Amino acid sequence: MNQHLKRLHDLDGECRLLAHTADILNWDQETYMPEKAVEERSEQLALLQGLLHDRQTSAEIGDLLSALGSTQGTPAGDPGLPPVERDFLRALWRDYSKNTKLPRDLVTEFARETVVSQSVWQEARKRSDFALFKPHLARIVELSRQVGAAYGFADRPYDGLLDDYEPGNGQEKLDAVFGALRTDLVVLLGKISSRPRVRDDFLSRPFPIAGQDAFARRVAADIGYDFGRGRLDLTAHPFTTTLGSDDVRITTRYDERAMAGGLFSVIHEAGHGLYEQGFDPEIRGSLLADGTSMGIHESQSRFWENVIGRSLPFWSHYFPILKDAFPSQLADVGLEEFYRAINAVTPSLIRTESDEVTYGLHIILRYRLEKELIGGTLSVEDAPAAWNAAMRELLGVEVPDDASGILQDVHWAGGLFGYFPSYALGNLYGAQFYATMRRDLPALDSDVASGRFSPSLGWLRDRIHRFGRRCEPGEICERVTGGPLEARFFVDYLNAKYRDIYGF
Ligand code: ZN
Repeated sequence: MNQHLKRLHDLDGECRLLAHTADILNWDQETYMPEKAVEERSEQLALLQGLLHDRQTSAEIGDLLSALGSTQGTPAGDPGLPPVERDFLRALWRDYSKNTKLPRDLVTEFARETVVSQSVWQEARKRSDFALFKPHLARIVELSRQVGAAYGFADRPYDGLLDDYEPGNGQEKLDAVFGALRTDLVVLLGKISSRPRVRDDFLSRPFPIAGQDAFARRVAADIGYDFGRGRLDLTAHPFTTTLGSDDVRITTRYDERAMAGGLFSVIHEAGHGLYEQGFDPEIRGSLLADGTSMGIHESQSRFWENVIGRSLPFWSHYFPILKDAFPSQLADVGLEEFYRAINAVTPSLIRTESDEVTYGLHIILRYRLEKELIGGTLSVEDAPAAWNAAMRELLGVEVPDDASGILQDVHWAGGLFGYFPSYALGNLYGAQFYATMRRDLPALDSDVASGRFSPSLGWLRDRIHRFGRRCEPGEICERVTGGPLEARFFVDYLNAKYRDIYGF
C-alpha cells in the first residue's frame, strides 16, 4: 500500500482507539458509575477528548491528505486509488475539516460541561426542578452555538449542528419535510380519535422484571443481535454504544407495570446494534466502520422496533411464547387484542412511550424548540412554557410538571442539539426501505411469522449495514429505493396499518 495511505490508516486507527476508550467511560457513566464520581469523570473525559482532538487535527493528517490529493474540491483524493480508499479519504477529509474548525478549549469545555449537566439533569428530573438545570442548559446552548458558528454557520448555527447528524439536511429541508409530515399526521390522528379506543389495560399489569428481561434477550438474539460481541445493561435512558469492533453494547430500562416499554427499547437498541455489528470486515477499525448518519441509524432501530416488532406476523410467532412466560397476566388476552394494544394511539406526554403516529409530533416539537433556542429567538428561561404551549398545540396534551415536560429527555443535557430530527428521519427512511424490501422479499410476512429474521437482516446487511460510512445517507436512499427521501412512504405505511387496527 501507498506509504502515505498506510500512515493515515495508522493515525486514524489510533483515533478510533482513543474514541472508543472515551466511549467506555461514557457507557460506564450511564450504567454503573457511582453518583459521586461525576466530577473526576468529567475531567477524565475532558482530557481524553482533548487528546483525541489533538490527534484528529494534527498537521500530519492534513499533510498526508493533501499528498494524496484529498482537498475541498476533490475530497476522495487521487482517482487512481481503490474505491474503498477513496471513500476513506472522503470521510476523513470531512471529519478533519470539521474538527480543525473547532478550538481545542471549546472541545474540552464541551466534554466537561456535558458530563456535569447530565448528572444535574438526572437530579432535576427526579425533583421536577427546571431551575436546577437551567444554568447548565443555558451554558450548553451557548457552547452549541459556538460549535455551529465555528463550523462556518455563524448566521444559522443550528444548521452547523444538524450537519453533524444528517449531512445535507439543514433547516430549510427539514422545515419542508416536517411541515408536510405534520399535516398528514394530524389528519390521521383525527381519523383515529373518532374511533373507539382499543383495550390495553393488561399492559400495565405487573410483569416480573426477570421474566421481561429473559424474553427481551431471546427476541434480541433471535433477530440476530450477537451477544458474543455485545451485552445488555440497565440505564436511565436507553442507548447503544460501540466500544470496539467486537463490542457493541445495548442498554434498556424495565418497569414492572410497563412491560411494552422495556421490550421495545431492547428491540430498538438491538436494531442499532445490528447495524454496528454488520460492517464489512474490510473497513474494520477505521472511521468508515460507523453509521453513515443518525437518520440511517434510527431507520434501523425503528424498523426492528416498529415495522417488524409491532407487526401482526411478529406477534403471531411470539405471542404464544410470551403467554407461556406470563400465563396469569395474559390469560384473558388474545393475539389480535395484544397486537392492537401495543399499537394503541394515544396523544401522551412522554416521547419514548409514544405510538408511531404521535411520535413524529413529539419530534417536530423538539425541532421547533431547538431551532429557536440555538437561533436565539427563545430564551432558556421561557423554554418550559414554550414546551407546554407546543404540547397543547400539537398533541392537545396538558403538561402537569417539567419532569414529564421539558426535563424528560437527556439529549440537551448531553449536548446533542440537532439530534432529535434524526428520529423522525429514521421513520421516513425505514418506511421507504421497507417498501422496497417487501417487493424484494415476497415471503417476508410468512418468514417473520415463523420467527425467521435472517432474510430481512440479510437484505439490510447487503444493502445498508456493510457499507458503514462508505455511502452518504442520500446515496444509500437512492441506491436502495431508487429515489430521494420522501415522507409519503411512511404516511402510506401508517395509514394502511392503522386503518386495519381502528377500522376507519
Ligand atoms: Zn435510537
